Amino acid sequence: MRTLSLAALLLPAAAAAADFPDAAALKRLEAQYAPVDLRVDLSGLPSSERRVLGKLVEASRIVDALFLRQAWAGNEALLLQLSGDPGPLGRARLAYFLRNKGPWDRLDHARPFIPGVPPRPAAANFYPAGASRAEVEAWMKSLPEAERERAGGFFSVIRRDAAGKLAAVPYGLEYQGELAEAARLLREAAALTAAPTLRTFLEKRAEAFLGDDYRASDVAWMELDAAVEPTIGPYETYEDGWFGAKAAFEAFICLRDDAETSKLRRFSGELQDIEDHLPEDDALKNPRLGALAPIRVVNEIFAAGDGNHGVQTAAYNLPNDEWVVREKGSKRVMLKNVQEAKFRKVLLPIARRVLAPADRGRVAFDAFFTHILMHELVHGLGPHGINVQGRTTTVRQELTDVYAPLEEAKADVAGLFALQRLIDRGVVDRAMERTLYVTFLASAFRSLRFGIAEAHGLGMALQLEWLLDRGGVVARPDGTFAVADGKVKEAVTSLAREILAIQARGDRQAAKDLLERMAVLRPPVKAALERLRDVPVDVAPRFVTADELAPR
Ligand code: ZN
Repeated sequence: MRTLSLAALLLPAAAAAADFPDAAALKRLEAQYAPVDLRVDLSGLPSSERRVLGKLVEASRIVDALFLRQAWAGNEALLLQLSGDPGPLGRARLAYFLRNKGPWDRLDHARPFIPGVPPRPAAANFYPAGASRAEVEAWMKSLPEAERERAGGFFSVIRRDAAGKLAAVPYGLEYQGELAEAARLLREAAALTAAPTLRTFLEKRAEAFLGDDYRASDVAWMELDAAVEPTIGPYETYEDGWFGAKAAFEAFICLRDDAETSKLRRFSGELQDIEDHLPEDDALKNPRLGALAPIRVVNEIFAAGDGNHGVQTAAYNLPNDEWVVREKGSKRVMLKNVQEAKFRKVLLPIARRVLAPADRGRVAFDAFFTHILMHELVHGLGPHGINVQGRTTTVRQELTDVYAPLEEAKADVAGLFALQRLIDRGVVDRAMERTLYVTFLASAFRSLRFGIAEAHGLGMALQLEWLLDRGGVVARPDGTFAVADGKVKEAVTSLAREILAIQARGDRQAAKDLLERMAVLRPPVKAALERLRDVPVDVAPRFVTADELAPR
């Protein structure tokens, strides 16, 4: 699972244009992504590990090409054609094609921006051209169980054989040439590294590329403990619009952030104290918190394939294989420098438009990122397994469709509450109090830009309107917003108390009422969002360090 750190991918529908965009219009579309140089400091890294990184960047470039082929059968021919067009329109089309990894705009309901291409096929290139979803589904159902599992699994495509019959072709065969090359590079990297867990992962992943059994390498990925933190392989299934079954190739080549890692360790040691002091009944508190799912904070050197198109991934949870998750759990990887780029290029411009002048200088990346970390940790606190009228159940089961927006809002406000407690206890520097709430306010507008149709946006609307109602945030006559330092802490605590109580009772009706009453966008907020239309939506990274490590 992937977090883009944007509420949703669908922007308000752009003005309808029957025609295809010309060079100038394509430039405007491209300008939705603010260019940013992604650099990572490698000065602390031994030369062996730098050479490892170079090999991994090379392997990731192969992954990039594989993904392009997976996304649409026509992509490679179109790329060749666009690359041969040196005019301004051709260059603009090529740039936007590469941004979207295909001729359909990922920010605008897959609208085609190059003439002559079909509507985006939901089947991507995972199923045979000309087959229907119903035909493939009926065929899968007709298979004996073991074969059906393979045909419906992550790591095969469905093709027609010479006789026209459907057949599952494993990735190791379908992408044989490229995967052999990528496996060779991973093995060379494995031979170079001084880190044993990294060597194991790379060797096992190379084996998986050739033999299509990814489990041992997923386990090795969970056990990684090295400065170099690579994620490379077929993972997410969002591109498969038919069954959400086929994994797309992606790569994130990253370096562990040691300062953030030790901060995480420090925070983890405080979680029991935070749980013990949450604004809820003492009887509800969990006296013994369980072990946490591991979190890695890294800096991204290179991203490729499904990991680099449209809106950039800010964090991800892997693996997706349920067997591995059951046996070894899953790991959350947070891409700190990508978040920092988004902060600089998107959040700061938003802050300049919607915050009161006095508050603008109080927006800080450290507060932004530390709150995101705390949000993740705090998901583990508060009510989960509950008792409703003698029944043992879970908050998720009881709240069903309103669980997600409420849980996201809980993680945000309980995250603010938790950081305030760490500030008050001297675990976090007092200086963060000045930046924390103001930064959160700016980031609320960033989430709300994408509407309140899904959980994060809806949860954020609830929070902003609650803070406005309780006077923790003030809408000013000039249309900007300010944090009321004297009231914001109490407003945050009161919302945390409200949500935790609803969760503890498993009270779906109360959750619905709260969201219907509060998760709305009232006129001052709507007007502020209108003013953000031309602020970039996201960033377009240039991988400066990767290009130095592995010149093209
Ligand atoms: Zn969350």
